[in-house]
Amino acid sequence: MLTRETPLTDLPGVGPARGKKLEKLGLRTLGDTLDHLPQRYEDRRECHALRDAPQDRPCCVSAMVAETPRVSFVRRGLTLVKVKAVDDTDTVHITFFNQDYIREVMGRGDSFIFYGLVERQGSQLAMTNPVFEREGTARFTGLIMPVYPLTAGISNNLLAGLTRRAVDGCLDGLPEILPARLRREHQLCQTQFARKNIHYPTDFEALAIARRRLVFEELFVLTCGLAQLKDRRSAGEGRVMEGAPEDFADLLPFAPTGAQRRAMEDIAADLKSGRAMNRLVQGDVGSGKTAVAAFGAWAAAKNGVQCALMAPTELLAEQHARTMEALLAPAGVRVALLTGSVKGKEKKVLLAALAAGEIDLLVGTHALFSQGVEYRDLGLVIADEQHRFGVAQRSALAEKGGAAPPHVLVMSATPIPRTLALIIYGDLDVSVMDELPPGRTPVTTLLVGEDKRARMYGFVRKQVGEGRQVYIVCPSVEENGGGWEDGPAMDLKAVTAYAHELQERVFPDLRVGFVHGRLKSKEKEEAMAAFTRGELDVLVSTTVIEVGVDVPNASLMIIENAERFGLSQLHQLRGRVGRGKHQSWCVLVTASRSETARERLRALCATNDGFQIAEEDLRLRGPGDFFGKRQHGLPQLKVADFAADMELLKEAREAAEALIAADPELKKPSHRLLKKRVRELFQENGALFS
Ligand code: ADP
Ligand code: MG
Repeated sequence: MLTRETPLTDLPGVGPARGKKLEKLGLRTLGDTLDHLPQRYEDRRECHALRDAPQDRPCCVSAMVAETPRVSFVRRGLTLVKVKAVDDTDTVHITFFNQDYIREVMGRGDSFIFYGLVERQGSQLAMTNPVFEREGTARFTGLIMPVYPLTAGISNNLLAGLTRRAVDGCLDGLPEILPARLRREHQLCQTQFARKNIHYPTDFEALAIARRRLVFEELFVLTCGLAQLKDRRSAGEGRVMEGAPEDFADLLPFAPTGAQRRAMEDIAADLKSGRAMNRLVQGDVGSGKTAVAAFGAWAAAKNGVQCALMAPTELLAEQHARTMEALLAPAGVRVALLTGSVKGKEKKVLLAALAAGEIDLLVGTHALFSQGVEYRDLGLVIADEQHRFGVAQRSALAEKGGAAPPHVLVMSATPIPRTLALIIYGDLDVSVMDELPPGRTPVTTLLVGEDKRARMYGFVRKQVGEGRQVYIVCPSVEENGGGWEDGPAMDLKAVTAYAHELQERVFPDLRVGFVHGRLKSKEKEEAMAAFTRGELDVLVSTTVIEVGVDVPNASLMIIENAERFGLSQLHQLRGRVGRGKHQSWCVLVTASRSETARERLRALCATNDGFQIAEEDLRLRGPGDFFGKRQHGLPQLKVADFAADMELLKEAREAAEALIAADPELKKPSHRLLKKRVRELFQENGALFS
């Protein structure tokens, strides 16, 4: 008897070697294969007469082999098997590449069903490498055939054979995790129907019904987990802190914008609510989030607790430390910097001061939360520019707090589509900063090819002549943790070599510097600081300057090989200019002739709206880029597609929130299976649901 627990290696045709390969796909038992969902489907239902075979898509034809197949050796590594087959209406000439065994399989007079594209070549019909099965024993023709994600050594037919067994023999008693009432309300089919039809749909309508149910289920379980998290957090006690934005505003060198004021009011209200704050401040690049973060740090210090401000890169941490020091030291806030490059005695002294409560605001990278870093009384954690700063990290932070969990404030530039935000930040309250400080002129963005390089360098010279500064950005995989870039990237040497070339040949009379992720942090800091002080005219850099860096005098950014970046990342980069009163430019350089690549880049030239760009990026590149290398700590989605299933996500989320509001801990008997599934889904982040 086959059950969902039957190991795949118990099945005929799956030996230890294949078993290992299947394990690579996460498949150990027959039940596992039910979760291995097809990527796409082939409609192999209808068998066409050769004469009537459609020319624009693959189809099945039934034909008899009319002559013994002929094999020809074209050259080493390439053999062709030619098969002539006939039905009542016509003849088809079939070619198989490198499949010598066909000769053994297909004898004259044997009938097969072939699936593939039937092409008309002159007066003849031809097929190339069709899938085939012997007439009478066909398992995978005459149906809508699932096509699965594969791995080397595992064929689609093997996998389909396994899922067929699972679907035929193991669906009885499959637990139904969605309560009946919910299924009725949202018109969702039963789990058996869904599983059967996602693998072997009777027709495309049944497939759509099955898929809808599975997408809903997946998003529902996920959002139930998030809703529970949010619920628990907001139930968690937070220490009460007082602090008025008006009092803080006196410290700022400018009047805060309306959006900054509102974000600060939201934070002030959270801090004195008695519940732990979990807030996201979303604002496009340049909207002035740093000042809002500073307000939080100021309030914490005023209330005698410590604040940790985390930045994604050392560069940004260093800049923040300087900004915070300048802004808050006059108010008596003691600021210190801790990054990976603070070591030895210096680090010891710093940690001792932190533990003794002699530091009010510690700025740094993730080093802030590494082992051995003990706070005397951590009351507020701020994560800047962390659109990939997920649920798991926030949870880990919560544990660093002493008596009560620390308040948490996450700052992020907008470029994250609303659908994704709902999921990544599903457990947070959100303040949106939809206003730029006054006096900004929008950045003009241009797309140019190699032919404009000389003119472009001329433009650099002109800008520098007017006292401005220029960034030149090159792609590099080296320091990029997030997996934004694809394609071969300019390597490290190329960045430095390019900088030298620019200095020596192109701009011998200008001051050129460079930064990239592999430089020692001291060297990086020196180059950045020199640029900030205006001692460099041109800064050649990799994407280390992607986030946060603030040099208002920089008015021109040139981005080399622009096609290698994601749109949202380009938008982030572009945000480094246009921060002062000067008209600013961003020049995207590409040698790419791909029309889609150029189209993408033109989209960026056309708008400065981060949201719009993010939506476009999601559409073109999928959610992977936003999620990074699973740094968000959220479970991977198997069925749902963020771009396509937005409506269903909303529906599932609302249903989840209603359910969690009614039964926060999923204690009702009818929610038992759901509860189990939520736990399983978040299992990798055990701490979340302990
Ligand atoms: P981001 O939101 O991208 O982090 P920053 O906080 O770095 O933006 O601010 C961008 C620039 O705008 C900085 O030079 C900052 O000093 C300036 N700035 C911020 N708020 C205001 C304001 N209300 N008025 C004028 N300039 C501001
Ligand atoms: Mg910032």
